[in-house]
Amino acid sequence: MKTLKVRGSDKDFTVGNVFCVGRNYAEHAKEMKSEIPTTPMIFLKPSSAVTRDREDIVRPSISKQLHHEVELVVAIGSHAKNVSPQDAQKHIFGYAVGLDMTLRDIQAEAKTKGLPWTIAKGFDTSAPVSEIIPASMVRNPQSLEIRCSVNGALRQRTTIDKMIFSVDSVIAFISTLFTLEAGDLVFTGTPEGVGTVNGGDLLRAELVGWTSISHHVKTP
Ligand code: MG
Repeated sequence: MKTLKVRGSDKDFTVGNVFCVGRNYAEHAKEMKSEIPTTPMIFLKPSSAVTRDREDIVRPSISKQLHHEVELVVAIGSHAKNVSPQDAQKHIFGYAVGLDMTLRDIQAEAKTKGLPWTIAKGFDTSAPVSEIIPASMVRNPQSLEIRCSVNGALRQRTTIDKMIFSVDSVIAFISTLFTLEAGDLVFTGTPEGVGTVNGGDLLRAELVGWTSISHHVKTP
């Protein structure tokens, strides 16, 4: 089982299901030449993909194109089924920053052939996640800001209020189809600026003012 550290606690957070939202920022949908969705587009990663701060990100030999996608990650704290957006906050345990690492060439092939994204999105080390900041410490989650840099150069940056579907509405939507449980994570989508990382690169993702993760990239 994968676990994450929790700020201000010596108890780890044990990771369950990992839900992800695709295309949740208009500018990213544009750069991917994708339509802006009318309902959240959901996919999953296996929990085995979760990778902690400082652990290497390893591009599998099947791919030549590994992309970074920085995302706000929401950690679920309690059972949630058919919750309303108004009630979603009650089920949030905390916030983290994560990287939805993507094999873009494999994903493009899957899109063309109508195949699932599982390999492109769920390979080992595809889900680096920071420590979790308890929701009780975060006064205004809408003002949270995420950033991603590669070898010190800023590549992605956004505040959370730019999302097409808010955190609350994403949780509500997922809970109509899947039962959310304590331990689940929700990757909430990436802003524009996604790009390739190569072997030896140092990737840094930040939840500004709160926490960050750093990972070296390894290629075969
Ligand atoms: Mg993503």
